[in-house]
Amino acid sequence: MPDTSVPPDGPAPDSPENPPRSSGAHTRPPEVDRVAASRRAVAARRERAALKRDVTMRVISPQELLRRALAGPETPAGAMRVTEFLTAIPAIGEGKRDRILAQLGISPVKRLGGLGARQRSVLTAFLDERLPEPRPRGGRSRLVVLAGPTAVGKGTVAAHIRAHHPEIMLSVSATTRAPRPGEVDGEHYFFVDDAEFDRMIAANELLEHATVHNRFRYGTPRGPIRTALAQGRAVLLEIDLQGARQVLAADPAATLVFLLPPSWDELVQRLVGRGTEGDEERARRLRTAKVELAAQGEFDYRVVNDDVARAAEEVAALTR
Ligand code: 5GP
Repeated sequence: MPDTSVPPDGPAPDSPENPPRSSGAHTRPPEVDRVAASRRAVAARRERAALKRDVTMRVISPQELLRRALAGPETPAGAMRVTEFLTAIPAIGEGKRDRILAQLGISPVKRLGGLGARQRSVLTAFLDERLPEPRPRGGRSRLVVLAGPTAVGKGTVAAHIRAHHPEIMLSVSATTRAPRPGEVDGEHYFFVDDAEFDRMIAANELLEHATVHNRFRYGTPRGPIRTALAQGRAVLLEIDLQGARQVLAADPAATLVFLLPPSWDELVQRLVGRGTEGDEERARRLRTAKVELAAQGEFDYRVVNDDVARAAEEVAALTR
């Protein structure tokens, strides 16, 4: 994790707010100027630190920061050293940073806003190759559907997004299944009986609904989604494949994200790992997984669930 800390609020030891005791103030600029300059310097440092956190947390792409820097060499982005910039990028530490700079032929003292034409183009090419930006939304709505094969970990990824991205509204589905221990009505699901589920369908309150695993019914309430989208918020639905197809039919501008396991073996492990099922059940689950995986071509994006936090951040970025 790069050091993105900001200096404490107090004045630096030698700042105008805390001048040295010695005399000789007459050789310095007027007190008011020095105070103002010092304030500006502290503010700029804070803004640079905030920008670095945005890159580290993938709120903005490194390419976006570089674009801002080049558009405004005098801005905090423009004043950022290329060394600070690179170490803000996840998975680049100081050693790697120095190797990259040497390889690209960029001096470590350079500031982003002061890069020459050749340096800009090699740095941009490096970033595009290492960290491709998601493709532009191209008229898509901020209604994002997360689906994938059974046991791939959609629920865990969604839970991570719920915990770390309050700006994204996670749709709460209605279901006819009973709550599991720890599940809260209205938070994880709206737990309803069959009669209430039928009523919701008849009243056209559900955007989509499906019977999942041939057992219980699940459906996405329309109202809260409409409200959130109207407020400009992103909405994430964690639903099954049948539901994802229905959402796409109802709203062709929706963004469909398919969560993939890191490997087939890993999915098999997650599906039948405990080995408590009989051969027939095991074979049935694997057949289902194969069919489910074959649906990925219908989706706009594929995200590999190799690490929950990483995959969750990738999905969150797709809602922007
Ligand atoms: P669980 O009962 O384990 O919470 O969820 C079972 C499955 O139902 C998961 O695959 C989940 O994605 C799916 N699911 C949850 N809510 C909905 C929904 O509103 N609509 C549809 N179609 N599937 C849902």
